[in-house]
Amino acid sequence: MVLRHALLSASQSEAMKAMATNNPFASGVVSRFVAGETVEDAVRVAGELSAAGLHCTIDHLGEDITDEDRANKNADTYIRLLAELGEADLTDRAEVSVKLGSIGQALPDNGAAIALENARRICAAAAELDTTVTIDAEDHTTIDDTLAAVAVLREEYPATGAVLQAYLKRTMDDAKKLSTQGSRVRLCKGAYAEHSDVAYQSRQDIDLAFVRALKVLMHGKGYPMIATHDPRLVDISAALAVRTSRERSSYEYQMLYGVRPEEQRRLASLGERVRVYVPFGSQWYAYLVRRMAEKPANLGLFIKALSSKY
Ligand SMILES: Cc1cc2nc3c(=O)[nH]c(=O)nc-3n(C[C@H](O)[C@H](O)[C@H](O)COP(=O)(O)OP(=O)(O)OC[C@H]3O[C@@H](n4cnc5c(N)ncnc54)[C@H](O)[C@@H]3O)c2cc1C
Repeated sequence: MVLRHALLSASQSEAMKAMATNNPFASGVVSRFVAGETVEDAVRVAGELSAAGLHCTIDHLGEDITDEDRANKNADTYIRLLAELGEADLTDRAEVSVKLGSIGQALPDNGAAIALENARRICAAAAELDTTVTIDAEDHTTIDDTLAAVAVLREEYPATGAVLQAYLKRTMDDAKKLSTQGSRVRLCKGAYAEHSDVAYQSRQDIDLAFVRALKVLMHGKGYPMIATHDPRLVDISAALAVRTSRERSSYEYQMLYGVRPEEQRRLASLGERVRVYVPFGSQWYAYLVRRMAEKPANLGLFIKALSSKY
């Protein structure tokens, strides 16, 4: 827990980012988890994944929003990305994931409305190309606004995906409400440091909550998107898919770019739909450090790379 908090603080450090950026060895580690800094990098990785039989959802890393102009520019980047994916004929396998925070939600004046309008522009661009948008889940204070925005977006773009975090105590209720016909819902454990008032804390409690919400989604009428690298939860999902007689086209697995890539390919080779979450953008550093906080073995790799003279 102490290491996790230290790492989450390091994710804010510009000096650490500069060290990582200037070290050619470290950049090899970065490229394992992040597609690169540009739209072109993201499209290239989407093409590679598609060639390997995988789907993807692409996240533009742009978390530090201080003004409306930056929020609008982040949305513009998504629209350009979608156009490039269309040009490359990849929109049958590639969609985008959007954090409302990156397109204005936290702005003091009218943040929710600015984010909704930007999300609407992105959804319109995606719908033109026959692909979809999933709205990521951020910290618990944003969930009401985010799910409300998803509900509004679905009036015009019904395929807009929602995300539920199993560690939040409210999630069972949200899962029941979102298990409707055609409703695309990603279930993940949850990545933010949350208080015990609102979130389960122990790994066991979070895993049990994941299974409870998963059962609701798999028995429901929606399209569950099972986002975990946890081998036990993947096995339980497979068993539930059999028990609920789900066609393989009626749910999917999702994993992060660079995390358990062999498992991603194994599941795809069994005929499962597997979607890889691909982040790109100049703000890759904070994202990468969060992945270190999840898995200390990745930290070892990163530190070794940073201290290398080569
Ligand atoms: C596609 C996708 C989308 C997501 N979207 C969101 C979101 O919108 N909001 C949000 O809060 N969170 C999101 N997350 C993050 C999620 O909440 C978890 O923080 C993260 O996935 C780790 O949880 P886990 O289920 O993999 O289980 P964990 O308990 O973290 O890990 C289980 C096992 O998976 C393997 N593993 C896990 N992480 C790594 C790693 N980095 N490297 C190598 N092996 C690893 C290990 O074997 C580990 O024992 C998303 C995750 C995925 C996969």
